[in-house]
Amino acid sequence: ELQLLKESANLPAVTTDGHHVELFGNIGKAKDSKNALTMGAAGIGLYRTEFLYMENDTLPTEDVQFGEYKKVAEQMKGQPVIIRTMDIGGDKELKCLDLPHEMNPFLGYRAIRISLNRPDIFKVQLRALLRASAFGDIHIMYPMIASVEEVKKANAILDECKQELRNESKDFNENIKVGIMIEVPAAAVISPILVKYVDFFSIGTNDLCQYTLAVDRMNENIGYLYQPLHPAVLRLIKTVIDASHAQGKFTGMCGEMGGDPMATMILLGLGLDEFSMTASSIPLIKNIVRSVSKAECEGIAAKALEMDTAEEITAYAKSLLAEKG
Ligand code: PEP
Ligand code: MG
Repeated sequence: ELQLLKESANLPAVTTDGHHVELFGNIGKAKDSKNALTMGAAGIGLYRTEFLYMENDTLPTEDVQFGEYKKVAEQMKGQPVIIRTMDIGGDKELKCLDLPHEMNPFLGYRAIRISLNRPDIFKVQLRALLRASAFGDIHIMYPMIASVEEVKKANAILDECKQELRNESKDFNENIKVGIMIEVPAAAVISPILVKYVDFFSIGTNDLCQYTLAVDRMNENIGYLYQPLHPAVLRLIKTVIDASHAQGKFTGMCGEMGGDPMATMILLGLGLDEFSMTASSIPLIKNIVRSVSKAECEGIAAKALEMDTAEEITAYAKSLLAEKG
């Protein structure tokens, strides 16, 4: 089995008609990148940095963060590593920061909203990310973006950090790529505008589904309403991918849908460039990618987009998978 895994890990993620996509791993700790590589990840599509903030009673220092980010950058040997800035707050309890208890934590003070309100904390992370970018192909990604202003403000703080590091003669990648998560429906809708301000998009379907369908992603009573293949979600995904391609930029996906075999052919057909997932899902998704043509997937995606209900699309996706065996 280990042999099979190794063989799969070395195979390219390319369709039968030669269309190449990136299959990346999601990680929560620096040491997870080793396993992602073993599973065949060609990069890291989402490094969730929350753990650094959740582990201790005090905020993680610049040097501690730098050490973790550098480790991943080095382990991935020049392959892309997309690191998401702190997505704290909301439902995540922190000992290192006194956050208010909220009625609607998922609609509240969290993620980029905290970062922009607390540049003192945000800058520590951005400086660490910039310094680590001297050791690999680090990309910075902002979570929970809903407007152009948020991107501009975050980038202004990033520019400040760059200037500080130049003044201190500390190395970093001057051309570091900066992207945003598309996980708020507003961001998906204005993706043709947002694309002007970023290098890439990564669709966070966990939150995008939750917010688009108004279905709490944790509430089991309404779990049946949580449908990634809902026509509304698919249309938003198409909007985002098309918007990025119109400007020669790329779109990835780092929510669970990116590693869901039911969605792979549709997403390939929509033109998704990068699929990021739990490392253990990579071999299965790679298998699917390698067994289909981009052309046939385009037909599949077009057909799915014409359907009226999530139920129909889900049944269709199931039948396609069954056909492939
Ligand atoms: C998402 O929302 O899809 C996502 C990848 O982020 P998280 O699951 O950490 O909220
Ligand atoms: Mg999210």
